[in-house]
Amino acid sequence: MNFYDSKKLEAIVETSVDCIIVINNRGIMQSVNKATEKLFGYQRKEMVNENVSMLMPNPHAANHNQYINNYLETGKAKIIGIGREVEAMTKNGQLFPCLLSISEVKMKDEHLFTGIIHDLSEIKAAESQLLKLNTELEQKVQVRTSKLTDVVNQLLKINKDLESEIDKRKNAEKALKKSEKELKELLNKEKELNEMKSKFVTLASHEFRTPLSTILSSANLIKRYSTEENQYKREKHINKISNSVHNLNNILNDFLSLGKLEEGKIFVNFEETCLKTLFQNVLEELEGLKKEHQNIELLINFSKPIQTDKNILRNILYNLISNAIKYSKDDGVIRIKLDKIGGDVKITVKDQGIGIDKAEQQNIFSRFFRANNAVNIKGTGLGLHLVKNYVEKINGKIYFESEINKGSKFFVEIPIN
Ligand code: ADP
Repeated sequence: MNFYDSKKLEAIVETSVDCIIVINNRGIMQSVNKATEKLFGYQRKEMVNENVSMLMPNPHAANHNQYINNYLETGKAKIIGIGREVEAMTKNGQLFPCLLSISEVKMKDEHLFTGIIHDLSEIKAAESQLLKLNTELEQKVQVRTSKLTDVVNQLLKINKDLESEIDKRKNAEKALKKSEKELKELLNKEKELNEMKSKFVTLASHEFRTPLSTILSSANLIKRYSTEENQYKREKHINKISNSVHNLNNILNDFLSLGKLEEGKIFVNFEETCLKTLFQNVLEELEGLKKEHQNIELLINFSKPIQTDKNILRNILYNLISNAIKYSKDDGVIRIKLDKIGGDVKITVKDQGIGIDKAEQQNIFSRFFRANNAVNIKGTGLGLHLVKNYVEKINGKIYFESEINKGSKFFVEIPIN
């Protein structure tokens, strides 16, 4: 290097903003630049020929010579050619961060190291300021987030409250609808009851009129037939009176039974019952109702007693057989049959009467229902309704087959036990 080059280099070193320190292999500073004076607060003469460890805090200060020796012995660089962030110490003992990069200069008789120190104080301050700002920002974000979470939670709660409010309203609405329905049902029942009552009054006055006027006219006629030779006529009218009273009695019984049924006052009493005797008794009772040339056949295929309610079964039979008589011609045959099927007995009442129109068959068990072809025959439309209820009371079932103008077959099945 010529003189000119060496001056140029010196000028560059001197004006460098970073500290440039040259040490020998014992750590003794050979030269320092202006920036070193400025940064460390020492005068150049205070540093040159002194150990570089004066510029660093312990434990590095104490170990620095060892660091150099280790390198010289092992050749393993920890900092040379690598650079690292370290802490340096000014003359007045103040520590500051800096970036230290060291390069090795091997000369003929000397082994030197050049250290370049870049002050990181400002960068570090800016960095810590940035960190602080960042932390503050994070804190703010956290506060905001927690506020937001609170708001979201509040919203969720409001939502939940609203949902439960909606549920409550829905339930209230349902309950209201239910009670409205119940009220309507009650009202309908009340209406039905009223209709039934007025129907009863109309029917009773209508049905009672004929037998009552028959009784009245027959009684009047009996008064007139006072002589012996009129005995036959007298008996005829006494029979008429007796039939009319019988008829009235039946109508009254039907109405009374309906009333009891509606009020749930029909009680069942199961007892050992001989069906043959029961059938014969009913037929005897109906003898007076039978038309002149009508023939009733009874076929009993099961003779053991069964457990049932005698009275209820009597009513069922009475109704079915009296209908068969009523809705059959003068010379029809009525067949009554008793069979056993499985654990049940099956009663069949078959007639050759007017039959029931297919279109009307579904209504046959309804209260007050009377088929079109029966309007000229006396009746209340209560019998079969009562029969169906009675059959159900003794755990049985009832069904029928019928063809208009050919006849009907009613079947009742009830358990033996
Ligand atoms: P009622 O005989 O007093 O009218 P029921 O309830 O016993 O009342 O019968 C209802 C209707 O069913 C009758 O009006 C009639 O139209 C029809 N009915 C019942 N039994 C017979 C039958 N054996 N043959 C034809 N129609 C019948």
